[in-house]
Amino acid sequence: MSAFPRCLPLAVVGLLAVLAPAIAGDLTVTIRQGPVYPGDVVRVTVRAPEDAGSIVATWQEREVPLARQSDGTWDGLIGIDIADEGGSRSVQVKALHTNGSATAATLEFVVDHRTLRTRRIRVNPRFVTPPASALARIKEESERLSALFNTTSPGRHWAPDAVRPVEGVAVSGFGVRTIMNGQPGGPHNGLDLAAPTGTPIYAPAAGVVVYARDLYYTGNTVIVDHGQGLYSTMAHMSAMDVREGDAVLKSTLLGKVGATGRVTGPHLHWGMRLHGARVDPLSLIDALATKSSTR
Ligand SMILES: [Zn+2]
Repeated sequence: MSAFPRCLPLAVVGLLAVLAPAIAGDLTVTIRQGPVYPGDVVRVTVRAPEDAGSIVATWQEREVPLARQSDGTWDGLIGIDIADEGGSRSVQVKALHTNGSATAATLEFVVDHRTLRTRRIRVNPRFVTPPASALARIKEESERLSALFNTTSPGRHWAPDAVRPVEGVAVSGFGVRTIMNGQPGGPHNGLDLAAPTGTPIYAPAAGVVVYARDLYYTGNTVIVDHGQGLYSTMAHMSAMDVREGDAVLKSTLLGKVGATGRVTGPHLHWGMRLHGARVDPLSLIDALATKSSTR
């Protein structure tokens, strides 16, 4: 992960708060109006001439292919990592035209800083100071997940929209800083939905099950590849009802709520990655429900 510059002075942030579309030649690039925060999923929309054959956005050194929509615009999703400290950002867009020419445009926008709330929880000490016998397993699982989340498959299974996997109460939001057994930890990289053990968990969007295993920290864990760099992680399940390689549709049963792994009680931890960035699952639902504005 690249280092992010510090926050811009307030005056500069204010100046840039009203987002203007980037217009270069025949390309117009927009994102939604309003503040952008760490953890947000942002839809990038491009208006391009009819002869555009392919359009790719570049976001923090990763290529994000855009797809042409029924209204003639092109769009794709980018993720602002939870650890982004805020500041000026840019997304580059390049179109290849059927006559062989290429055009490009760059949209500048600001990621606002957000102060994280703090929660204090108590868990089994083996999850705060793992025994030496568990260290090799933890390292292997961490490396495997990191490689997985940095893999991009070509499908676009997340379209057109996404739903909550469990009708539970959100008990711990995305980005809350956690103090575990008195020791400060990182920000909460998911959304906790409280529901009784055995409550069904459904796929928030279509995709392919790429992981269905018992992991040290997250217990019984199902990971769904929604395509184009987007992954859902469902953690702490009491039962897994899918296997690796299964194709799932939106609302397919994945498993049941449980309390396996590092938990204080039964709940679903729903994590989301987009091109490696840790993003807020609720922000994905919002981003898919809202088209970009060109106001
Ligand atoms: Zn959680």
